[in-house]
Amino acid sequence: MRKSTFLIALLALEQVYAQTPTAGAPAGLQTPTSNFEWKEAYPVPIQVPSPKPEWVQSLNNATIPQAPVGQPAVPGTDPYCHWTSTQCKRPSDIYTCEQGHWGLSFDDGPTVASPPLYDFLKSQNLKATFFLIGGNVIQYPEMVKRMHEDGHEIAIHTWSHTQLTTQTNEQIVAELKWTEQAIKEIIGVSPVLVRPPQGDMDDRVRNITQQLGFNIAIWDHDTFDWEIGTNPLITPQSIEQTVRGWINNSSSGISLEHDRVNETVNVAINTVVPLLKSKYEMTTVAACANMTAEDVYKETAGQGSAGSGEGAATSLNPTTLFMAFGTVAAALISHAL
Ligand SMILES: [Zn+2]
Repeated sequence: MRKSTFLIALLALEQVYAQTPTAGAPAGLQTPTSNFEWKEAYPVPIQVPSPKPEWVQSLNNATIPQAPVGQPAVPGTDPYCHWTSTQCKRPSDIYTCEQGHWGLSFDDGPTVASPPLYDFLKSQNLKATFFLIGGNVIQYPEMVKRMHEDGHEIAIHTWSHTQLTTQTNEQIVAELKWTEQAIKEIIGVSPVLVRPPQGDMDDRVRNITQQLGFNIAIWDHDTFDWEIGTNPLITPQSIEQTVRGWINNSSSGISLEHDRVNETVNVAINTVVPLLKSKYEMTTVAACANMTAEDVYKETAGQGSAGSGEGAATSLNPTTLFMAFGTVAAALISHAL
């Protein structure tokens, strides 16, 4: 009761700071933690938003697989390739790195815990991929600007951190597009990479994501740092053992970490990154998929040197794969069902 009263008070406070909504957009909110001058009024950070009508109208509904909303697949009967249920992957999913390389990624930021991680990565001359929550982006725009200026890849992790297979087509659009728009207001370009919270995706989520011009990137090595504080078995020591196991057994990978709270940032700085760096060539998620720095943003995609550089002959550009998957494979799936 007291909690809900506080929430209402907080939202009322946020309303004071709300700016005039853009025509056609739902009434938006900004939090009073920044002086950034937003052109757009954004949805409430902690709720699944509604989309702008034009975003939904641009979708080709005929190609969207009719996967059931909010129902986990059963192993052995997974026609819609639900990764969280069965580990099913499609060729378009980015999930690992080339031999000897490691893709560094952090989810759930930006938060008040994030800046020491930015400082650390800068001191080590390392670049990472940050999958940002839109609701956090509008609270800490200066951090997004800093990440971009530091040379990190800015990517999308939905607006409210909801599980995408539990949402309608329209809600999936809203979760991705509001986050994209907020990031573009800050850094001037639109991210290409999307990571669904918990990696929760099926062919419906893939199709909608691809139609909106995004590429999905998950991971193949989980630190389980997200369970620090809730699972007594997950500690900095257990995470160290996990990462030492990777070093002994894996030739490459993309790891899941978080800059959500101080504990997850500390374990990244003190344990995970130094250990990984001792064995692998550290890189970004996009680089793992042979995407250039230009390919990471819609406005500059395809303008880099991919295709002429070293290694281009041995790995496929996922942008190309996505175009093929989105237009051909999705249509085939649709016809087959
Ligand atoms: Zn997350």
